[in-house]
Amino acid sequence: MASYDPQFEDRLNQEYDLRGRTRMAAFLSLALFTVFIGLDAVYTPQYFLTFLFLRLGVMAAVGVILLLLKRAKTSQGVMNLALVLALIDAAGIAVMIYILGGFLTSYYQGLNIIVMGMIVLIPLAFRYTITLYVSIWFMYTIPSVIHYLVGQKAVVVDGVEIAVWRFVINNLTFLTSIIVVGAIGSSYMESIRRRELRSRLQLEETTGQLKESNEKLKSLDELKTQFFANVNHELRTPLTLMLAPLKSLLEGRMGKLSPMLKDTLETMQRNGYKLLKLINNLLDLNKLEEGRMRLKVRSVNLVEFVPPLLASVKPLADQKQIRLYFQHPPHAVELTIDPDQFEKVIFNLLSNALKFTSRGGKITTYIEDKDHTVTTTVEDTGIGIPAHMLERIFDRFSQVDGSKSRAQEGTGIGLALAREIVLVHKGTIRAESELGKGSRFVVEMHKGEEHFDEDVLERRTEDLPIGLKRRTTDTEEPRVQDIVTDYRRLQLVDLEKVDIEGGQVDEAKVHDALILCVDDNPEVLKLMKMLLADEFDLELVTSAEQGLAFLRAKNPDLVLCDVMMPGMDGHAFSRAVKGDDALKHIPIILVTARTGAEMLAEGMKAGADDYISKPFDSTELKARIRSQLRMRQMESELALMNKNLRMRTSDLVEQQRSLFLSTVKSLASAIDAKDEYTRHHSTRVTDFSMKIAAKMGFSEKEIGDLELAALLHDVGKIAVPESILNKPGKLTKEEFEVIKEHPVRGEAILSPVIELKEISRVVRAHHERYDGTGYPDRLKGREIPLGARIMTIADTYDSITSERPYRKAASHRYAMKEIIACSGTQFDPEVVEHFLEIAGTFVPDQEPEHGA
Ligand code: ADP
Repeated sequence: MASYDPQFEDRLNQEYDLRGRTRMAAFLSLALFTVFIGLDAVYTPQYFLTFLFLRLGVMAAVGVILLLLKRAKTSQGVMNLALVLALIDAAGIAVMIYILGGFLTSYYQGLNIIVMGMIVLIPLAFRYTITLYVSIWFMYTIPSVIHYLVGQKAVVVDGVEIAVWRFVINNLTFLTSIIVVGAIGSSYMESIRRRELRSRLQLEETTGQLKESNEKLKSLDELKTQFFANVNHELRTPLTLMLAPLKSLLEGRMGKLSPMLKDTLETMQRNGYKLLKLINNLLDLNKLEEGRMRLKVRSVNLVEFVPPLLASVKPLADQKQIRLYFQHPPHAVELTIDPDQFEKVIFNLLSNALKFTSRGGKITTYIEDKDHTVTTTVEDTGIGIPAHMLERIFDRFSQVDGSKSRAQEGTGIGLALAREIVLVHKGTIRAESELGKGSRFVVEMHKGEEHFDEDVLERRTEDLPIGLKRRTTDTEEPRVQDIVTDYRRLQLVDLEKVDIEGGQVDEAKVHDALILCVDDNPEVLKLMKMLLADEFDLELVTSAEQGLAFLRAKNPDLVLCDVMMPGMDGHAFSRAVKGDDALKHIPIILVTARTGAEMLAEGMKAGADDYISKPFDSTELKARIRSQLRMRQMESELALMNKNLRMRTSDLVEQQRSLFLSTVKSLASAIDAKDEYTRHHSTRVTDFSMKIAAKMGFSEKEIGDLELAALLHDVGKIAVPESILNKPGKLTKEEFEVIKEHPVRGEAILSPVIELKEISRVVRAHHERYDGTGYPDRLKGREIPLGARIMTIADTYDSITSERPYRKAASHRYAMKEIIACSGTQFDPEVVEHFLEIAGTFVPDQEPEHGA
């Protein structure tokens, strides 16, 4: 069960009118207690007076409850009163039952009435019901049982004697059953009441939310309407004021224009028209959707109405080599329409057909005169529309190719507007198409004018030829069309192709940097040329594919590239350039109309070096280009410096190494020279060690290291006084201790040179013995660096075979014997084995004659 919520309980009692129902139950009990006075008179005349007082007493108590009921503040209080009411009623009846002989009287039916009545009349909480029922049961049973125990055990009914216990069983069974049924019913009703209230509360909440969102939507809608009204004034008016003088300028009314100026002004005019077309379409669509569009209908002969429209699109069709056909009945086909609006419909269909049909295609317009309708069909041999889009293209902003890189400009508003216009005319418009083969748009309009809703019609006061109308009834601003009369051109402005003639780079290189500009919109390229040509050499191309080809051929210094292009877009282009080792150094600046962090991140991920958003200003554009070029130049200077530096560094290292080697070698010969007996000792030990190492398969570098270690192994002897080194005869113990220090001294001399760390370890260990009895560290077995284990053998061999102050040189054979004898104690047996295999090559030319 959910946790107790006083608010919910209050609401529950309010919803089911606990107070009102209790009051009603009180009145009912007053009425019944009164009515049953009659029963007393008939059934128990002997107690009539007693019962009368009893009844009056109960009724007085009920009266008090009625008074209290008015005052009770909480629903809890009301419920308590309801319980007390039922208990008083039951108590009154219980007393009468007792007087009438307990189980023997049928007055217990009164209790049944209370039990059932409570369920129906008062929405008591379950625990109250239980309290009441249990009380009633005891009120009946206890006095009746007492009565039974002390009273008669049998009665005579119609001459038949019946035992009283039968009444006991009978009455108790009925009362108990009614109570049980009542309790179940009460609990059931209560859960229904709670559930119902809970759903009602939920409903209330949802309704509240709905109301709130509705309010919000309404205010948003008002805002939108307000916004569109503002757009009307704030955008169309200034645009008109720019376009009207531009038109006069271009018509030469303000003097002759240079070709360059004329070209620039035309670009401005064309783009102004594009903007105006978009605003007009949006405003019209808004008007239509809000039901504010009024039709100025009149009868028009379609056979005459269509040709001027076709004539307007002919120049563009010729440009694309698309043929235009018109098929119509031989007679006039009259139709009541708003010609201005209907013209927008047909124009949209024609301009779409032109847009989506490729060179050499065909566009046919049919007029068909049927019984009650007239259909106008525009059919093309263009790219077609997929079946699933046939309905959707009439939705606002819907386009088959909605990608940012679609091939055709457009906003997806034209068909939505056409449909709305047809719908206020009560006509229908539909599309049929076969993908790749072509599309046909069919507009079907009713003849006559009965079908028009009266409130969309605005009766014309005068009829003027189309295109020369003045808006006498409009209270709004003078419409742009009234000022700029060539509004058909406005509709077709998306389709006008601009050539970028003169955009190609002059062959002669004029400026320091060559920039490649890639944009599918020739007008943007023209603008770039205008802004940048005075400072940079430019190449202008209209696709990323052309751009890549140019990059490979000419290696320009920088690329300015549009992001949204048909085919390969700017991001793909960046990826292609940055993924090509030969091109990746060329900086790319992406130019985009879309802004936002996501766009930026995508561009940077594709490898673009910088980003600039449209509309760009020439100062910023140039500044970005210059900064990229400077960075590029600095990078290549830095790369060159780096290369030189690396070359010089490796030269230096080489020099240092050979210098070091020659120093080490002279040091070694200095040691040798110091000790006349061991002259060339180091050189020989080196030679022997290297031979053993080579036999053991050392790498060239390891042999090189061992060479240094062997050359320098006695470098510590520099610190040993000459008198001790060259002492003829036996050394004293102290003198020997001094000699024994030379490995440690050797290490100390070598270790400051980082390169010699490993070598100095070998030097320190060259007097260690395999069995761990050597010096200075008493290293054992493989703890001794391998180089040292090799060197000790070479060292010992050379010591034995060369003359010393205290002894003569011994023979090769003797040395071999000594070394074999000490294998495993002084020497590593494995190295000894290798040594033995090549020892033959150590034998000096003149073998000494004598042994040790
Ligand atoms: P848009 O300004 O994009 O042309 P429209 O509402 O006029 O907007 O057209 C919506 C879309 O319907 C177009 O983008 C195009 O995908 C599709 N469409 C319209 N006319 C044709 C056609 N004749 N052939 C192929 N596709 C068409």
